[in-house]
Amino acid sequence: MEKNKVTLLIDQDDVLAEYIKGVTEAYNKKYKTDISPEECNNWDLHTVFGEEVETVMHEPELFRHLEPTPDALEVFTRLYHSGLFEMYIVTAAQPCSVEAKHEWIKEHLPFFPEERVIVCRRKYMIKGDYLLDDGMHNIEDFAKAGGTPIVFERFHNKTALGNYRRVTNWKNFERMIIELCYPELMERYFDEEALEVV
Ligand SMILES: [Mg+2]
Repeated sequence: MEKNKVTLLIDQDDVLAEYIKGVTEAYNKKYKTDISPEECNNWDLHTVFGEEVETVMHEPELFRHLEPTPDALEVFTRLYHSGLFEMYIVTAAQPCSVEAKHEWIKEHLPFFPEERVIVCRRKYMIKGDYLLDDGMHNIEDFAKAGGTPIVFERFHNKTALGNYRRVTNWKNFERMIIELCYPELMERYFDEEALEVV
């Protein structure tokens, strides 16, 4: 445990990695359909694709090869190396996809310690100051448990209710979290691109 550091819990699917986009591509390929990720306006993908989505949505190979979300790797890396935060990746996963999700992190964020990856469905049980997540159930439960959630906006949560902080991309998140936690370092952080801030 690192004393006096703000703890950030970061979701993997649809925050670090483009999960719904990956599911859509895999589904279209398999069933010769033309569904777009924009049509996925519901957290429950079964309502968008039908029950057959089960045949693609848990595949380890899918998780292994997801595209990173724009600016996710750059901003995550910068926040991590700033030394200002204690960071964890918290992800819900079926047992069959855990290894593939770890491998994705190892490939894209090779510096990130494996022990900072927490596989957990009930994210509100994890003690942290902020949770960046796209799942509204996680957002609501984390707030009830006393943490501060930040919604990562996606097509499925655009119209979700609740007075929560929201960001539409990673650069927004970076600006918001520095402003919230270290307002006195704003200028220095962005001037020096977060290098050797502490
Ligand atoms: Mg997610």
